[in-house]
Amino acid sequence: MSTLKRRDFLAAGALTTLAASAGASVRPQRREPGDDHRGPAVIASGNGLAAATRAWELIQQNRDTAEAIVEGVRIIEDDPNDMSVGYGGLPNEDGIVQLDASVMHGPTHKAGSVACIEDIKNPAAVALEVLRRTDHAMIVGPGAKRFALRMGFKEENLLTDRARETWLRWKRNSTKRDDWLNDDELDWQFDDQGHGTAEQARALGLDAPDFTWGTVHCSALNAGGDLSACTTTSGLSWKIPGRVGDSPIIGAGMYCDNDAGAAGATGRGEAAIHSCAAYQVVDHMARGMTPTEACLETLRAVERRTKQKRLLNDKGQPSFGLSMYAIRKDGAFGGACTHPGGSFAVAAEGLAEVRRCVPLFE
Ligand code: ASP
Repeated sequence: MSTLKRRDFLAAGALTTLAASAGASVRPQRREPGDDHRGPAVIASGNGLAAATRAWELIQQNRDTAEAIVEGVRIIEDDPNDMSVGYGGLPNEDGIVQLDASVMHGPTHKAGSVACIEDIKNPAAVALEVLRRTDHAMIVGPGAKRFALRMGFKEENLLTDRARETWLRWKRNSTKRDDWLNDDELDWQFDDQGHGTAEQARALGLDAPDFTWGTVHCSALNAGGDLSACTTTSGLSWKIPGRVGDSPIIGAGMYCDNDAGAAGATGRGEAAIHSCAAYQVVDHMARGMTPTEACLETLRAVERRTKQKRLLNDKGQPSFGLSMYAIRKDGAFGGACTHPGGSFAVAAEGLAEVRRCVPLFE
C-alpha cells in the first residue's frame, strides 16, 4: 500500500470526488473486504490463482504489468487439464480448437487481440505481440496464425485425447438424426478405451457437461499505479467454427484505463459483448464505484438488456452465468456473478487466495 505514489493516491481521491459531483450512485454501494484493499495487486478469475500468483511475483520484480499477466495466464494455457483455455481446450463443432485472447496495457492505452487462432498454444502472448509490434488492435483466423508463426511461436496440435473424446461423445450423442450412433444405440460397448458409454466415460474422468464455458482473466496493478488486463480462452465448446466470443473483444472480455482500473469477464460471451461489459465496469469505477458495485451494476445492465425468452429462467432472470472481475486504480478489487458459485483469485502483499464473487441473484 505504501508503495503507491502520492499522485496515485490523489488520482484515487479524485475518482471519489468526480463521482460525488456526478451524483454517480444513489444506491448504497456494495462493499466487500477487497474494496478496502489499497496498493498493488493481481486479480484473476477463480481458475486463475496460479496465474495471479505468478503475475504478482513478476510485478514484484518490476516486470511490466502486461508481460506479467500474460506470463501468468500462460500457466493455465499450457495446462491440459483446464479444458477451457489453450492446450487441451474443448474444440468447436468440427473438433478444431480455436482460441481467443486479448491484452490491454494501461500506460500506453494500447490493446492487442487474436481470435479464432488455431494450433498456437499461447494466444495471450500472441495478442501481446499484436499490441507491441503492430499498429493493429486485432488479428483473426489464419492471419493470426501466420502472424504468430512469424513471431516465432510454434505450431502444435492443441486437441488432447481427452478433449477429442469429450467432443466425439458430444457429437455422437447430439442428435439421433445423423449417422453417428448415440451411446444408447451401440450394439456393444467398447471396454477400456473411453469410446463407450457415458458410464465408462465418467469412470475415465472424461465426463463433461454438454455445453461448457471457461476462460481465464487476469488484471494487475503495480506499485507505480500502472494497470493491465488480459483474457484468454478456447471459448464456448462445440461453437460454430469461426465464432468469436467476448474474450478478444476489447471492452467486452477485458478493458483497462490506466486512470481508473481494469476489468474482465468470463461466462456467456454474447452477453458481455452486447453490453460492452468490461468497459462498463471500468467506467463505473471511474465514476467512483467500488469494484464490487461496478461489477454488480454492469450485471444489472446485462439483466435489463436480456430480452430473449430462451435466456430467462422461470423468475424472469437471465439463466446464464456471467462473472465480472475488477481492480481499481487505488488497489481496491472485487468480483460479481449472475448466479451463486462464481469466484475470483487475488494475489497481493500477504494474499494468495480464491474468494467468492458476489451474486446478483441469491
Ligand atoms: N466468455 C467466453 C466466451 O464466450 C467463455 C467463458 O468465459 O466461459 O467465449
